[in-house]
Amino acid sequence: MNITKETLNKNLIEIKEAIKKHSPQPENVKLIAVTKYVDTDVIDNLLEVGADTFGENKAQVVKAKYEHFAAQDRDISWHFIGNLQKNKVKYIASFVTLIHSVNKLSLAKEIDKRAKDNNRVIDVLLEINIAGEESKEGYRYEDLLVDLPELTKLENINIIGLMTMAPFTEDTTVIREVFRELRLTRDRLNKDVFDGRLTELSMGMTNDYKIALEEGATLIRVGRKIYE
Ligand SMILES: *Cc1c(COP(=O)(O)O)cnc(C)c1O
Repeated sequence: MNITKETLNKNLIEIKEAIKKHSPQPENVKLIAVTKYVDTDVIDNLLEVGADTFGENKAQVVKAKYEHFAAQDRDISWHFIGNLQKNKVKYIASFVTLIHSVNKLSLAKEIDKRAKDNNRVIDVLLEINIAGEESKEGYRYEDLLVDLPELTKLENINIIGLMTMAPFTEDTTVIREVFRELRLTRDRLNKDVFDGRLTELSMGMTNDYKIALEEGATLIRVGRKIYE
């Protein structure tokens, strides 16, 4: 893909303005620039126009991109945003900044183990399936409650918030409900279990990030909008 720096810069500015306009707490919001569509040359340009936090959804791909930039000593945060298979955790455990998609106890245990091997504590989010769609990954709330005692015992993962994907619909009322429900779930867990430690809400993509901001997103995962 050949995308000019001007295009990237214009789109990043638009997103930053939307954060100020739509978030009740813009200072707490971070843009995760989703780079799964683009190669390292486009990421180079993104770095030049000020982006520094990137989201990827394939373990081997993010490892390769990480290594490319680590060799240049660039200061970048790599977030893992997609469905993560247990047997792929080993590729990312040494460097990943935040894993957005912990949706099973077995996955959490593997991340914990690999983090320990690397002498790290890895920040993670719990992925919640708010809409209850069969096709979607993510914990249902009842199942999360079952796993929570075990999850909170893992010493090398640090649970700092929740993540969700909006359902496939044009109906913005439904999308807003889902984001609101994620926030209320976060608030409830903060009160009952986490003592306020769940600071992050990862929600909102190109089509719905403004709604997510209005409902309290602190991490928005935006891809296509940056490149168009
Ligand atoms: C691709 C992807 C995004 C970004 O989606 P866009 O519609 O390109 O903004 C966000 N989150 C996840 C989990 C993704 O896989």
